[in-house]
Amino acid sequence: MEKHIAVLPGDGIGPEVMTQALRVLAAVSEKFGHTFTTEEAVIGGAAYEAHGEHFPDATRAICAKSDAILFGSVGGPVSELHLDKWKGCEVNALLGIRKAFSFNANFRPVKVFPELIDICPLKKEVVERGIDILFIRELNGDIYFGEKKFFEKDGRRAAMDVAEYTEDQIASVANTAFQAARKRSKRVTSVDKANVLHTSKLWREVVHEVAKDYSDVALEDMLVDNCAMQLIKDPSQFDVILTTNMFGDILSDAGAVLPGSLGLLASASINAEGFGLYEPPGGSAQDIAGKGVANPIAQILSVAMMLKFSFSLQAEAEAIENAVSSALAKGARSGDIVQKGETAIGSVAMTDVVLAELA
Ligand code: NAD
Repeated sequence: MEKHIAVLPGDGIGPEVMTQALRVLAAVSEKFGHTFTTEEAVIGGAAYEAHGEHFPDATRAICAKSDAILFGSVGGPVSELHLDKWKGCEVNALLGIRKAFSFNANFRPVKVFPELIDICPLKKEVVERGIDILFIRELNGDIYFGEKKFFEKDGRRAAMDVAEYTEDQIASVANTAFQAARKRSKRVTSVDKANVLHTSKLWREVVHEVAKDYSDVALEDMLVDNCAMQLIKDPSQFDVILTTNMFGDILSDAGAVLPGSLGLLASASINAEGFGLYEPPGGSAQDIAGKGVANPIAQILSVAMMLKFSFSLQAEAEAIENAVSSALAKGARSGDIVQKGETAIGSVAMTDVVLAELA
């Protein structure tokens, strides 16, 4: 197979972990006989330095002619976010690229590696039941995109954000979720607040209409407050969680702490045509940038997700996932997942172990 990939390393640890992920991509292409060409482009603070904006046209053009986008992370040190280079960086870069390619579904798989049960913040007996959830969050609608304003009411400051959904936006992401569930254990939990919100009442109605085309997939509804509670009490009950933009933003971050580090998770944003962007859900981790200690697994698993979702290369993706599991089983630990009595290794050494397992 021949594919062209846009590579956007970004800021902070982005370029460091991207270099490692590309080593794994090269190894997979050699092992399975594929030709993946890559073209690098700047985004975030790195793009601001080169072009005076966080998502320049040149980067957009490189992405537009690619088969998939591999993304690192963007953003500056939290103490410097007032500087021009970093002001609005994450929003301009991330919302800019989501809008440019109409990414409407965000996939975030959350899995607790058996070797790392001890760093999951939940009780061992809860984790041992197995945690393997796929969050699918709608990305284009809801309160983030509706009218927003500050105003005055009875002489006091007031503000509002309008939440809005159309039936087409809901149906599109619901179809995506049911199709994804078919490749897993055929269960979808749709999360809303239909007891209070009109957008959620419409959400529930449309999700049930779409479900009629997927009679082989079991659908249950859950209110968001209950879902937050169940995620901590008994996360093993979930398979695919389908939810709105804002609820997904919050719930998927709660899910992200379950594996024990942001450095262990991959995520994808996909549009209705199946074009996708693959990235770690964490940020630029400026506190550890430049030290060579970042965990490269999130970026490496983003490569696996790209192979699976964009190129339908299931065996290649599984080869990477298995190599990561074996590396962890053999005791490879970066600083974020190291425990008492274990020795932390850097990004390069961690990737070396993954590559050895892949071979
Ligand atoms: P962060 O996600 O960058 O870091 C949070 C914590 O997780 C830090 O202690 C960091 O060291 C650790 N961490 C994250 N990834 C890691 C990895 N691969 N290996 C080891 N440890 C890892 O969040 P933050 O510090 O609040 O934000 C830093 C910058 O990142 C900000 O400018 C923010 O706007 C931006 N940000 C970008 C994205 C994105 O690009 N998608 C997401 C979140 C935050």
